[in-house]
Amino acid sequence: MKKFYITTAIDYVNAEPHIGHAYQKIVADAISRWHSLKGDKVWFLTGTDEHGQKIAKSAKQANLSEKAFVDKMSKKFKQAWDFLEIRYSKFIRTTDREHIRFVQDFIKKIRKEIYKGTYEGLYCEGCEAFVTEKDLVNGECPYHRKKPEKIKEECYFFKLSKYQSQLLKLYETDFILPKEKRNEIKNRVKEGLKDLCITRTNFSWGVPFPGDEGHIVYVWFDALLNYLSGANGNWPADIHLLGKDNAWFHAVIWPAMLLSAGYELPKHIFIHGFLSYQGQKISKSLGNCIYPLELAKRYGVDSVRFAILRIPFNGDDGDISPEVIIERNNNELANKLGNLISRTTTLIEKYGLEKTPNILLKKLPLKQIQSHLDNYETDKALEKIFIFIDICNEFIQSKKPWETRDTKVLYQLADSIKAITILLSPFIPETTEKIAKHFQFPIKLDEINKPLKLTKLKKSEILFKKIDGTKA
Ligand SMILES: [Zn+2]
Repeated sequence: MKKFYITTAIDYVNAEPHIGHAYQKIVADAISRWHSLKGDKVWFLTGTDEHGQKIAKSAKQANLSEKAFVDKMSKKFKQAWDFLEIRYSKFIRTTDREHIRFVQDFIKKIRKEIYKGTYEGLYCEGCEAFVTEKDLVNGECPYHRKKPEKIKEECYFFKLSKYQSQLLKLYETDFILPKEKRNEIKNRVKEGLKDLCITRTNFSWGVPFPGDEGHIVYVWFDALLNYLSGANGNWPADIHLLGKDNAWFHAVIWPAMLLSAGYELPKHIFIHGFLSYQGQKISKSLGNCIYPLELAKRYGVDSVRFAILRIPFNGDDGDISPEVIIERNNNELANKLGNLISRTTTLIEKYGLEKTPNILLKKLPLKQIQSHLDNYETDKALEKIFIFIDICNEFIQSKKPWETRDTKVLYQLADSIKAITILLSPFIPETTEKIAKHFQFPIKLDEINKPLKLTKLKKSEILFKKIDGTKA
């Protein structure tokens, strides 16, 4: 059995989960479900990042202890992902005791490459990152539009600079996806690497540094290790999904840490763009946080998942809005998929169906769809599946089984719906489960080429209701 280990970023719990967080989790879930469908042994890790300066401050503002605050916030992320049918294997929290112990053991392991010194420079609290003038736009962090603070602290450094040539060699492989993202990182690493400050002393909410407990481990050093501490024997990861603001940590710091401790490297990291909402950046400070739960309750889980998975997943930014969700729901899920199933089952209830070789299925570009899914091109896979749905709708239109009562035509339609349902199952799990139950076939990839064993069928319930856009 082939294994497949996929991770998402673990979310920083200083604010509630918004649709931008959900974007990555939904894509990861679809990819992970695709691998399960293929029969791979899947390990899908997600969770929350719970240490650091910003969280200590947010807890104080909320009048809670840090622990009570992160417990409350982490639960909200977990609930959101559960509601959105994100079927993770493990939900890791960086405050888990096993994780903390792992971080401390890791540091002991690479202790020879850590030395004490003083950090004097800039720190963006929003990013929880040590930054340089080069990272800034007009003196401000481009992600947080804030001036970073100047800090001077005694700290421990990790000899990151040592790994420059090994990292540059790594960037010649397909480690970084999409490949368009490679050059920027390569060029910055070529300019030279400074050793990384990996402890803080001016607050205490973090993992105590072994051997010098006045220091706590820098939150990113702690957080990145979740991929190892939560691997459950599945290391190396096949893919880490991450937003473009986290590229440096995953493309530079993380592989250097692994090389230092003698671990295998993950096969790929995938740097994706941001999701905006109605053309606007989503952020707490802009006050336009869209909570995925609200959207999913209003429009349905599968309709929200579908609209998000329809966005090109290629490293570029994407945009979502109620209008887009409604349009995808009405035009594609209701009109194309829903209609095909409703017409087919209505006719089969009346006229029955008769087993015959399914010539229609030859028009399904199965190999292309599989290859898109293996290459994380979830949007392209959906596009191809919907082209086939169009073909099925044209077939029913041209064969007119309501006039001919041709039960062989109806069988081919039902058998094609089976293939469509199986391929759509990673994207819209709730609805595809309903369809599979109605047509009585198991959701397994090799069922696509096994003829449907059905002799009669009742009319299906309405799977997707059209949403009235004027009431959105
Ligand atoms: Zn920042």
